[in-house]
Amino acid sequence: DTGRTRERDLLDRRDAAFATVQEHYYANPPRIERGWRHHLLSTDGRSYLDIVNNVTPLGHAHPRVEQAVSRQLRRLNTNSRFHYASVVEFTERLAALLPDPLDTVFLVNSGSEAVDLGLRLAIGASGRPDVVALREAYHGWTYASDAVSTSLQDNPNALATRPSWVHTVDSPNSYRGRHRGPEAVRYAPEAVAVIDELAAAGRPAGAFIGETFYGNAGGVALPDGYLAQVYEAVRRHDGLAVADEVQVGYGRLGHWFWGFEQQQVVPDIVCVAKAMGNGHPLGAVITSRAVADRYRDQGYFFSSTGGSPVSSIVGLTVLDTLRDEDLQGNAARVGGHLKRRLEALADRYGIIGAVHGSGLYLGLELVRDRADLEPATEETAELCDRMLDLGVIVQPTGDHLNILKIKPPLCIDTAAADFFADMLDLALTQLGHSR
Ligand code: PMP
Repeated sequence: DTGRTRERDLLDRRDAAFATVQEHYYANPPRIERGWRHHLLSTDGRSYLDIVNNVTPLGHAHPRVEQAVSRQLRRLNTNSRFHYASVVEFTERLAALLPDPLDTVFLVNSGSEAVDLGLRLAIGASGRPDVVALREAYHGWTYASDAVSTSLQDNPNALATRPSWVHTVDSPNSYRGRHRGPEAVRYAPEAVAVIDELAAAGRPAGAFIGETFYGNAGGVALPDGYLAQVYEAVRRHDGLAVADEVQVGYGRLGHWFWGFEQQQVVPDIVCVAKAMGNGHPLGAVITSRAVADRYRDQGYFFSSTGGSPVSSIVGLTVLDTLRDEDLQGNAARVGGHLKRRLEALADRYGIIGAVHGSGLYLGLELVRDRADLEPATEETAELCDRMLDLGVIVQPTGDHLNILKIKPPLCIDTAAADFFADMLDLALTQLGHSR
């Protein structure tokens, strides 16, 4: 019919004009032109529960953001070289969210830019170009952020194509890595050994970068004490600790505003993006005045739209709304409820190997065999397609694409979380899974 032909035509035009190196979407995606809170509406009149949108913590089409942005657009939007109050207020508010001595804020437009700048600040301050990163990580697409990204899901040649200044350590995954369960305490001393060996070889690392809670690996908490030991080692050789909070920070973990709090450490440089702008491009790097000052004669920084009047108003409005709607508290409450529901499903379906995560950053890991943990990659793709039929948008993550990443808008309520768990239950049964 003409409707379907029109959609096919739009998809063909998308393929022709819109450059994507990898396709991370459905074969026949619904056309989404509207959203409201944690719901997405397609042009054929269906409503979908949005389980993937960690860029919109307040939910879609939040009226408070819409009004604040419209008002600011009517007044002024310009590059950030001018003097206006909102950028001052926004940077003060961001700095206040971080412990001492992190008091100096750079504003950019994305997570990739934040990580790139974070690395450059560390390299500038330490005077050392070598960087240690976690395997299985994704940190962005710019030269430096891509160089430290070793996720095979994003680039199968990632490890082979690293520049020589990038050194990697094992993904400290206590579920499916080399060291499992209580043995996971061995990852930290192994990473420390890599950092010490680099120093002994005359190439001490200028930075260690890692997510503070392993989002890209499916929402896996790092082993207790991991970052404390690794940060201590890199600092012992005068390097800096760079925390990527792009996915897991900003209240999503529920109990903690930042992932590094879970590890009881304070990084030297914190990179933030995604949630900050509720979908508007916004990123930040927060560090100490000392590190920021050392960059002055090491490199240049000016971002035309980073911290623009509109971006600053968006950032402030997001922070106000997170606070006024207690969305971090909601992440803890609804996320806790959802995790218990998913754990109950794990008792009933053998394919659910583990339920990772905290708050509203959860990962449901699917395995063919709970003993050897063979990843259920095809089954996970099939499950996502069936969930779409049932009105739920959920996608896989991890190097084996066998983990459902569960990171909905933080405004999701218990009824919607229950709907998600009920539809998972139904889909798993329909697909013939059982105990
Ligand atoms: N770091 C992490 C952990 C991320 O997940 C991402 C994006 N998926 C980035 C950095 C890059 O952010 P952006 O897409 O905004 O450039």
